[in-house]
Amino acid sequence: MAMKLCVKPIKEWSFYKGRPLMICGPCSAETEDQLMETARQLAELGKVDIFRAGIWKPRTRPDAFEGVGKEGLKWLRDVRRETGLPTATEVANANHVNEALKFGVDVLWIGARTSANPFAMQEIADALQGVETTVLIKNPVNPDLELWIGAIERINRAGINQIGAVHRGFSAYERTTYRNQPKWQLPIELRRALPEIPLICDPSHIGGARRFIYEISQKAMDLNYDGLMIESHCDPSKALSDKNQQLTPNDLRELLSRLILRQPVSNDSKFLDILGELRSQIDIYDDQLLDILEQRMGVAETIGSYKKENNITILQSSRWEEIIQKAIAKGDSKGLSEEFIQLLFKAVHQESINHQNKIMNS
Ligand code: PEP
Ligand code: MN
Repeated sequence: MAMKLCVKPIKEWSFYKGRPLMICGPCSAETEDQLMETARQLAELGKVDIFRAGIWKPRTRPDAFEGVGKEGLKWLRDVRRETGLPTATEVANANHVNEALKFGVDVLWIGARTSANPFAMQEIADALQGVETTVLIKNPVNPDLELWIGAIERINRAGINQIGAVHRGFSAYERTTYRNQPKWQLPIELRRALPEIPLICDPSHIGGARRFIYEISQKAMDLNYDGLMIESHCDPSKALSDKNQQLTPNDLRELLSRLILRQPVSNDSKFLDILGELRSQIDIYDDQLLDILEQRMGVAETIGSYKKENNITILQSSRWEEIIQKAIAKGDSKGLSEEFIQLLFKAVHQESINHQNKIMNS
């Protein structure tokens, strides 16, 4: 697992005015006017802490808009001068780092395709040696927690101590409702491994469509994330990249006004008493679940001995199909999602196979 990092708590960052830290701006800088107009409107909201815009865009296909390049760095510098907003852009190699720093960009973020590549991460870390700046590291495109932690460690070892992790979801081959699967368990595990690293959610790249941004942002707040990175464009219909997921500054204002921020802890003794009572009920059910699982594995082992005596294979595909289908149907009638039942029963089935295997092959 991860080593101890040397990082500055988000509350001590100069950009941080209170939860959530808001990083907003267009997917890409497109023209000087588009950038400045968006920044002016966002600054007016009074709720944006950092203005983001991609200058170098990693695109899936070579004929898509690949960003305005260096030219955009001057526009970002003007945005900072005119609106006072600190700026952020994506860097994917040492040259990007050096150029962005030269133009006074305040925050560098590392995209999901780059954090998946240790060579690129090391090159960026080397370019950051001796530099004082803020670096945000998006999760790698593939759901690999160690790779994400490794990317964070490389940047921290370069001496950067103002670091944040950005959860932007994970790509899947299958078509899914959201553009990228959130797999909330991964950022939760990241927080467990590196509790000192601020966690920021990017609902724009998770959702991929405007209509999902609110629900994903609210969920992130309920999971106690420290901030949000939300794409906003003065005229999303004309955006050259990610047009379906960008909000106008006005829509962003509306979204933020609806966001409910709950407290992570409470000192209210009545609340704590009731919560304690409810939690003890959960503990009882969890104990029962474990007892039942122990019993189930006991039966699996008996089946294992029986199959061994009769020289029968462990995996019986039709039986497994029957179990999972029955569980999905029953789960549905009890308000349990198919995704959950699939995960649970696959894990239980695998554990049963392991128990049978131990009996049959040892
Ligand atoms: C972006 O923030 O515009 C971007 C390209 O993000 P990601 O690396 O998450 O795809
Ligand atoms: Mn984008």
